[in-house]
Amino acid sequence: MSGKDYYEILGVSKDASIEEIKKAYKTLAKKYHPDLAGEGADEEKFKEISNAYSTLSNSEKRKQYDTFGQAGASDQGFGQGFGQGFSGFSRSGFSSQGFDFSDIFSSFMDDDDNIFSSFSRRGQRRQQRQENLDVVEKVNLTFEEAYKGVKKKIEIYKDVECTYCAGTGSKSMKKETCDVCHGRGRIITTKRTPFGAFSVENICHKCQGKGTIIKDPCSKCDGKGYVRESKKINVDIPSGVNNRDVIRVVSQGHEHNNQKGNLFLNISVSPHDFFKRDEYDIYCEVPISYTDLVFGTDLKLNIFGDKIKVKIPSSTTNNTIFRIKNKGFNHINSRGSGDLYVKVVSEIPSKISGEYKKKLKELKDLEEKNITKEINKKYKDYIEL
Ligand SMILES: [Zn+2]
Ligand SMILES: [Zn+2]
Repeated sequence: MSGKDYYEILGVSKDASIEEIKKAYKTLAKKYHPDLAGEGADEEKFKEISNAYSTLSNSEKRKQYDTFGQAGASDQGFGQGFGQGFSGFSRSGFSSQGFDFSDIFSSFMDDDDNIFSSFSRRGQRRQQRQENLDVVEKVNLTFEEAYKGVKKKIEIYKDVECTYCAGTGSKSMKKETCDVCHGRGRIITTKRTPFGAFSVENICHKCQGKGTIIKDPCSKCDGKGYVRESKKINVDIPSGVNNRDVIRVVSQGHEHNNQKGNLFLNISVSPHDFFKRDEYDIYCEVPISYTDLVFGTDLKLNIFGDKIKVKIPSSTTNNTIFRIKNKGFNHINSRGSGDLYVKVVSEIPSKISGEYKKKLKELKDLEEKNITKEINKKYKDYIEL
């Protein structure tokens, strides 16, 4: 790939509008199109302008290109992206190694047209569209990822504008007005009955309501104007997400006719064998020795890298629950977070022998003289010891 500037390739200014870019591309594409241009056909040149167009016609890719140059706009951040339909197309000139694309994403996530616009629970109303262009994907997270939040690269299959015909669906990039409905997309038929005349309006059968027809369908997209491709999308999953949560990634759904759907990610979080979740709170059971309950101790917990000290006072009863504030999951839609509940459970040794057995026997003798005696006194009507 040449190091030529995409704007120069298309002959447009840096602040050209999307319409200007589209117009410039159509003109140049017709001039060099391998199937259409005849004598002037130049496949290399066509690929070059198609490549420039594919970047500059996509607002996110264009932003990356303006900021980072070709490496920023190349395939990694957006999956294989452009060029899949062209056989023998090489992207070896794209050097993107050692480039952290998640940084680019987080940088434009903070922008006005941020990619991660909102978080919604299942059941919230979605925007009504004529055509459903939404893509739904399942995302599996570990307990830790849900606790801390994670940047995920997600592969999805979605329809994107066909670069071969600039989304027109036509080889010559020309749409002709439908001769049945004359561009209206609808036909009115009048029926005469004994009760009078009725007019019925129907969608035009020839153009399916589009008002235009394509006489020379594009060979890459079969006249649809879009092709399905695999894309890799970087998504910032916020900390605190739970099963059945849905994350909406704006404008990353199918692209048909300059309309973009949204991507909906259905979250699934796997359970953890030590920590249990209840809403935003976390529960765990910590085995502890009898003597630690008696003398007290400092428990040192590690919750995914966050070291927490829990002070167990002397003479703590078995099964006591300690609450550590704000160490649960982050609230998704508001400030603050849940709490961590730690239950201390006395561990009874399964094997007793030697020195340990001898000491316990001595302890038993001592306990018989005070604890057992005391219980006997207090509960003698109910317990015989
Ligand atoms: Zn029609
Ligand atoms: Zn096409």
